Amino acid sequence: MKIGIFGGTFNPPHKGHARMVEKMTEELGLDKVLIIPNKIPTHKRCDDLADNKDRIAMCKMAFTKPKFEISTMEMDRESDSYTIYTVKDLRKKYPNDDLYLIIGSDMFYIFHKWYKHKELLEECTVCVASRNTDDNIQSLRQYAFEKLGVYIDGLDGKNIHISPLDAYIVSSGEIRERIDEGKSLYGIVEPEIIEYMEKNKLYGYGKK
Ligand code: ATP
Repeated sequence: MKIGIFGGTFNPPHKGHARMVEKMTEELGLDKVLIIPNKIPTHKRCDDLADNKDRIAMCKMAFTKPKFEISTMEMDRESDSYTIYTVKDLRKKYPNDDLYLIIGSDMFYIFHKWYKHKELLEECTVCVASRNTDDNIQSLRQYAFEKLGVYIDGLDGKNIHISPLDAYIVSSGEIRERIDEGKSLYGIVEPEIIEYMEKNKLYGYGKK
């Protein structure tokens, strides 16, 4: 089986996340994708972090394809959570399956700083989607070669895949800012999630 792993803060989840993971699932022919909201963001911190239960509820509304499964495995972990721990746990559960770690290019460009990134590259194929119109395939290839020692021919190198998907420029940070400023979220967040955030007074909705 080909299993995708898509982790994130999802604070809140938006259409950029959903579109990216849906396209990746198709492109890679994945059989199942685990959507894994982080417990404590290890790569970044944020003052305006919604509770675990709210982020799980919103993920259920954002990632609705039958192949997608929301997993609380990182949130349930006692200690700080690193991706390598998650991947090792999944490797035990799925010893004979192929694991695909799906990330956006902003995460890829700091991949050499991730905890035990070399081990991660042995355990799974890292699949990268562009987040920015400036990061073309050539610059992603150059990064992989210079910082990770992986030569990418076309879109694939040893355990790295670059998706040709166009960037869809939206971030959770922009969404939180738009809420603070009273701007519309139409087209970038699922309407059901907007209602949920309003009702539960998340982010700027709780400050008014
Ligand atoms: P924030 O603005 O709070 O930093 P974010 O929008 O980057 O959040 P995360 O939950 O941190 O969202 O992202 C989870 C994963 O999804 C990361 O690998 C990130 O690179 C990727 N990602 C987020 N937004 C997009 C997007 N618009 N297109 C492609 N990948 C994305």
